[in-house]
Amino acid sequence: MVVSTKKPLLNYINGEWCASQGTELLDVVNPATTEVLSQVPLSETADVELAVTAAAAAFTTWRRTPPTKRVQYLFKLKILLEEHLEDLSDTITQECGKTLVESKAELRRAIENVEVACGIPILMQGYNLEDIARGIDEIMIRQPVGITAIITPFNFPGMIPFWFLPYAIACGNTTIVKPSEKVPLTMQKIFELIEQTGLPQGVVNLVNGAKEVVDGLLEHPQIRAISFVGSSPIAQYIYRQAAAFGKRVQCQGGAKNPVIVLPDAEPAMTTRITADSAFGCAGQRCLAASVAVTVGEAGDWYPEAIATAASTRVVGYGGDEGVQMGPVITKQSQARIEGLIQQGIDEGATALVDGRQAKISGYEQGNFIRPTILQHVNPESTLAQTEIFGPVLGLMHLETIEEAIELVNSGKWGNMACLFTNSGAAARKFRYEAEAGNIGINIGVAAPMAFFPFSGWKDSFFGDLHGQGQQAVEFFTQTKVVVERWPKEWSRQF
Ligand code: NAD
Repeated sequence: MVVSTKKPLLNYINGEWCASQGTELLDVVNPATTEVLSQVPLSETADVELAVTAAAAAFTTWRRTPPTKRVQYLFKLKILLEEHLEDLSDTITQECGKTLVESKAELRRAIENVEVACGIPILMQGYNLEDIARGIDEIMIRQPVGITAIITPFNFPGMIPFWFLPYAIACGNTTIVKPSEKVPLTMQKIFELIEQTGLPQGVVNLVNGAKEVVDGLLEHPQIRAISFVGSSPIAQYIYRQAAAFGKRVQCQGGAKNPVIVLPDAEPAMTTRITADSAFGCAGQRCLAASVAVTVGEAGDWYPEAIATAASTRVVGYGGDEGVQMGPVITKQSQARIEGLIQQGIDEGATALVDGRQAKISGYEQGNFIRPTILQHVNPESTLAQTEIFGPVLGLMHLETIEEAIELVNSGKWGNMACLFTNSGAAARKFRYEAEAGNIGINIGVAAPMAFFPFSGWKDSFFGDLHGQGQQAVEFFTQTKVVVERWPKEWSRQF
């Protein structure tokens, strides 16, 4: 293992790069090579305090900055992100493991959120009505909530902070970002670009770290809103804590996404799309397909087709040409996923394709698991009830769409559910009845565009307003209603 000689990463507070007060450091590791890329400090409550002080001081002026001026910084940021797309993609691939194509795609999604937030002069508008009673008018205006905090997971180091950040600041809030300690390099680079926009000091701040920083943010009385994305148990914890400390909160959690394949699905397209869904980003997407349910005759062709797609997928270092799937994030994650595969087999599933003990030439130390297909997964089994977050697709078989929808709705998560069919009636039934926030019809990764909410139901989401688009604007603003009476006699003096 190469030990980094680089200096630890810095926090960005009040427009300046500064060392964390914390003394503990974690290695930032390339999951394909296990090379140590850098070290991230585990910041402390004192760092949170500094960031809040900066954000509070900046808020007074920033909220008075006209929205049309505020978005000028976002226009600049969009240009800078476009100009540095290659370099940022390279960083994502290095620290997160996904392919360069996947890294570019996630940055594209980040940029789209900046573009949507540039519409804040329209998106943030309220509404009004004259003469709610004779001579009395009522106006609803949206005002920023104050200081907000954004806590994000490892699997999309570039995109997920942007479900919130552009909207938070465009609405006139100031904010503190706490990226995942496993992948802090991407935000470090993005903050260098934010610095170049000339955004006033303290409007956005970066505090690296883990639980102590998160708890500091949750408990700080001046922070008014928390945006979180991560696993369901932590999402639940954040939701409870934020509420206990009187904050508004949106928490996107984990998932176990089913895809249903009906007998009339188009085989080649269905196989290609579901393989991309299950194995793209090494299955480390909250919208990854984790279970494929064949209905009726789909069971005759789908298992063999998806097994071929799995066993022929090119696995390797995400930065290498032609690679279709990279490693999983850590050795612990690899061991956990391999353990779950074994558990699935012990519980009665058959390994159609077993991706364990993967050896990738030139990357023997990397955290690789090849695509895995487990057939005859029992819906009651631990494997069927656990978020795997790796390149493992379980297969089940049922006879009717009604049974398949019942299975979808019996799960505790509700992030995504997809249907493959050429029947409009089946598609409508599924869209109407499936209990999930993001629905795909002949789509494998139903990721909402920036101008739609990134939805999520049940244990995949705690809160009411999601990230992205209009819901983000609602989350980052509080409504104020003004009721006015101006007796007409008073206008005589003019
Ligand atoms: P995680 O829950 O381990 O970490 C997320 C964030 O929480 C990180 O910033 C981490 O530092 C912090 N954290 C971790 N443990 C904590 C604790 N005990 N107290 C306070 N803070 C803590 O998640 P992860 O492994 O980084 O990401 C993968 C998970 O995120 C998966 O479950 C995936 O489904 C989910 N995810 C969900 C969505 C969505 O939109 N629903 C999107 C992406 C990822």
